[in-house]
Amino acid sequence: MFQKLNNCFPISMKIYILSSGKYGKRIVNNLATTLSSEMVGIHEVEGDLPEFIEDLTPYIPEILPESDLVIAVGLKGDINLIVPEVARKTGAKSVIISINDHTQLPPGLRMEIEEDALDINVVFAKPFCGLKPIGDQYIDEFTQYFGKPELEIEFDQITGNPDEGAELIKKVTVKRDAPCGCTTFVSQELEGVPVREAEFIAAEKFHNYPCLASMAKDPELNDAILHVAGYQIREAVKKALNFTCKSAVIDEEACMGGDGCEHLCLGVCPQVNAGNGTIIIQADGKAYIDPASCGSCQLCISECPYGCIEIVEEKMDF
Ligand code: SF4
Ligand code: SF4
Repeated sequence: MFQKLNNCFPISMKIYILSSGKYGKRIVNNLATTLSSEMVGIHEVEGDLPEFIEDLTPYIPEILPESDLVIAVGLKGDINLIVPEVARKTGAKSVIISINDHTQLPPGLRMEIEEDALDINVVFAKPFCGLKPIGDQYIDEFTQYFGKPELEIEFDQITGNPDEGAELIKKVTVKRDAPCGCTTFVSQELEGVPVREAEFIAAEKFHNYPCLASMAKDPELNDAILHVAGYQIREAVKKALNFTCKSAVIDEEACMGGDGCEHLCLGVCPQVNAGNGTIIIQADGKAYIDPASCGSCQLCISECPYGCIEIVEEKMDF
């Protein structure tokens, strides 16, 4: 059985959306499944605008409704610079700008937006399904529904056949969907799946959706945004089950704690770079990997000069 937790929180905000392209359209359609009455306006931004725009004024919509939260999805290049002004004109003090491609909003452009939006809370979500509460009333209210995936999973033990004792997934509840809807899609595919295979099947089904984020390596994440999005859904499954069957693990005895390696493992981990505490440096300097959020990408393994990290494929309880 599959269930989506809709309308379980009182919600009272007005959302205005600037959307562009296929990616933007998918997000808008999925948000509308839950937040249609909160969406006070959607402006479709042309997809083939030049990357550098000198005069942005003609691109700012003339009629703008009052809103609390402005969301920009799929906008590429300088056109993102209109977002703070649009927010100001609607009265919104909270903004989410999603990044699904590293060429879409390079660091310099993000800095320009931040400098222009000192009076507004702006969060850049890369990927959008990595969005977590940040202490802003409206952004946090939005993350009650959409952002980093969160699931609840119930399972049953098989009795009376050769698989006796095996556990199968009985019910999946989506507590927080990815903005594109992939969490809901993947969850529908997990019913009846053996629990030990669920995290792997979830990763496979995620690719079937398919995610529209870029497959090119993002220099800041050190991995493709699409791969990092895949780690989020797998993490949701692992956390709901309270165990994983695959993770990178550090040999604590062998770890040099930064001596001669400057914690190289930390800098290359895409999950750490995406704002998740997947590698934790402990009080003694030694590194520890959180198996619940490790995406098993193996990048840390080749980076550790002391060969302290390996992939372990066995059941690890949290
Ligand atoms: S795991 Fe390797 S790279 Fe990371 S802190 Fe330990 S020795 Fe250094
Ligand atoms: S394998 Fe290493 S680099 Fe990759 S997600 Fe896990 S801890 Fe991070």
